Amino acid sequence: MEVHDHARADLARWREELPDDPWAADELWRPLTHARVDAARAAELDRRAGDFGRRVVEVVGPALARAEHRHHLPRLERYDGIGRRVEEVVFDGEYHRAGRAVWASGLVADSAVPGRAHEQASLLYLLSAEGEAGHACPATCTIGLARALRRRADEEVRERFLGPLVVADYDRAERASQFLTEVQGGSDVGANATRAEPAGDGVYWISGEKWFCSVADADQFLLTARVPGGPAGTRGLGCFVMPRHLDGRPNGFVLRRLKDKLGTRAMASAEIDLDGAVAWPIGPVEEGFRTAVGVVLNTSRWMTAVGSTGMMRRALVEAEAYARHRRAFGRPIGAFALVAETLARMRARWAAAVALCVEVTELEDRIDAGRASDLDVAWHRFCVNAVKYHASVTATAVVRDAIEVLGGNGTIEDFSVLPRLYRDAIVYESWEGTHNVLVTQVLHDCARLPLLDAVRERVGAAVGSGPASWGDELTGLLDRAKRAVDDPENGPVELRRVLDALLPLTGAGLLAEAGCGDEAALVDEYR
Ligand SMILES: Cc1cc2nc3c(=O)[nH]c(=O)nc-3n(C[C@H](O)[C@H](O)[C@H](O)COP(=O)(O)OP(=O)(O)OC[C@H]3O[C@@H](n4cnc5c(N)ncnc54)[C@H](O)[C@@H]3O)c2cc1C
Repeated sequence: MEVHDHARADLARWREELPDDPWAADELWRPLTHARVDAARAAELDRRAGDFGRRVVEVVGPALARAEHRHHLPRLERYDGIGRRVEEVVFDGEYHRAGRAVWASGLVADSAVPGRAHEQASLLYLLSAEGEAGHACPATCTIGLARALRRRADEEVRERFLGPLVVADYDRAERASQFLTEVQGGSDVGANATRAEPAGDGVYWISGEKWFCSVADADQFLLTARVPGGPAGTRGLGCFVMPRHLDGRPNGFVLRRLKDKLGTRAMASAEIDLDGAVAWPIGPVEEGFRTAVGVVLNTSRWMTAVGSTGMMRRALVEAEAYARHRRAFGRPIGAFALVAETLARMRARWAAAVALCVEVTELEDRIDAGRASDLDVAWHRFCVNAVKYHASVTATAVVRDAIEVLGGNGTIEDFSVLPRLYRDAIVYESWEGTHNVLVTQVLHDCARLPLLDAVRERVGAAVGSGPASWGDELTGLLDRAKRAVDDPENGPVELRRVLDALLPLTGAGLLAEAGCGDEAALVDEYR
């Protein structure tokens, strides 16, 4: 019995060691972000992120453990008690308790003001310690729509829809979703067949179906639809905002069913039929795809990269603490070279991802505030896609490593958060652009625009803080990237390989540039 009691006491101590204040405990995201903002902003961020990190531990974590459990998942209620169609998604009460904490942090309400990207990224990073947490996707979609309305919509549409999205009170706020994907394919958005017919007064009727509709409970749906007389492909798509209700009733849509998903299970994803739903265009309809990708999807890709990095952080913290407490063959498992190697690789991958995400966040901040240079815009266009690809692949690998460190316990749902992180990380790999789609997008962008010059300039400056060999390596990678761009047949495969090498190198360079020499050396060793 004594042996069992000791083992259980070790496990209890491991749990107690997890930080109550994840913001204060973070050795990298916090200082790298501080280095990008002025002192007043850093102090305010410390206050808000410190509070929210503790709320994630105290409220969001326990609430999600219940709301994401298979017995408490969201369910569809299509009719009310007297047979009227309502198309409602019903959640466990704990889901809403978590939502109140998330919205109160200001993560979404910050979208009312341009240039709050560091605050939003830091809050989302902390939330992602719980995976998608049921609310990362709704928050991201709402931020994306708010930005699209702020930057692209005409005044009347902005006035009508923006205000309720940027409210910090969860019970009063409206939430948004974004529906692009149709059953015939998500990567090939140009194959969208859902139609938008002009209904007069600048309003459109939307008919068709959407296949992957996350935040199916949203109050405002952003969607793409084909406009009459437009060209085939993406250039013929408009971008619209559609209120869930008109005159108190569902606005021309039916929720066919909720999807039974591998991950992000606390949040509701549906298939939706649209039949004459009333919607308003966000900016000129002929520029719809530009708005959908340039504002909305890019926002989601940035936030997905940040979320993936937050999941890596949690996996690392869990595994490092476990390795200090769990004993095998008379020693803490962290004393075994093979375990230490796994932990070091995890830490290196997390550190590179943090450096890359803070860099993208800085660019988001500048672009949103209207203070970006041409170089910033070009570099952002490259790295928002490349970093989403890299961070989402890496997150799954890091969480899997953490599960390995926890052994069999790592696979048990109520033992730790890791199974949920693993399931969510895999979903993050697909949504907002699969790996291949992102690599192909980078390739096309590099063929049309001088993005490789921007990479040479910005990454060149960063790796200049490290050994000379990094500069030589960058030159070689850029030569390969240039050849890939010129080779339509094999180019995508070669570019994916180049990105697999370029992103960790960039991460190491950014860390060295920021004065984080130890972390830069670690990334260098494991890249
Ligand atoms: C849980 C979940 C929630 C989602 N929520 C939403 C949502 O709210 N709104 C929304 O619009 N979408 C949503 N999606 C859809 C998501 O964006 C798509 O799954 C994704 O864009 C890929 O589309 P697809 O699944 O149709 O795959 P496909 O496009 O069929 O791709 C299948 C495979 O082919 C590869 N491929 C495709 N084209 C190429 C190419 N040119 N070169 C090389 N490889 C290629 C892809 O990389 C992928 O590996 C969600 C997805 C998931 C899993």
